[in-house]
Amino acid sequence: MSEVRQLGEIASYHAHIYFDGPAERRHAEWLRERIGERFRVRLGNWHDRKVGPHDQAMYQVSFATGLFATLVPWLMLNHGGLSILIHPNTANARRDHLVDPLWIGQPLAVHGEVLPDEDHEAEAALEVNTEPTLAV
Ligand code: ZN
Repeated sequence: MSEVRQLGEIASYHAHIYFDGPAERRHAEWLRERIGERFRVRLGNWHDRKVGPHDQAMYQVSFATGLFATLVPWLMLNHGGLSILIHPNTANARRDHLVDPLWIGQPLAVHGEVLPDEDHEAEAALEVNTEPTLAV
């Protein structure tokens, strides 16, 4: 039997919103604006080329654990066919990305071998850069 892991391990979450080609990038832009209007999150930079463990262009959304129950189902309804990786941020980034994440839309490859496999400090939610004005 394995030891029960505690929710307190999860310091924050990332949503990685992937896109491939102009039509998907336009939906990713639309989605980014709608997220910013509704959620207190950190919208990350656009990565128009593959970076880190990610197999497609994408941007990251960093969010606090308290937003999971609204942001994640909202993304389920509004992803418009885009692939979205939701992963916890615990002390092990490789496990977070490869073993414990969930996907909205079609799952993509994740190149976890580039991520550290040793324990580190879990990443807290990054500073919010949205000013939401709309209800979810
Ligand atoms: Zn991430």
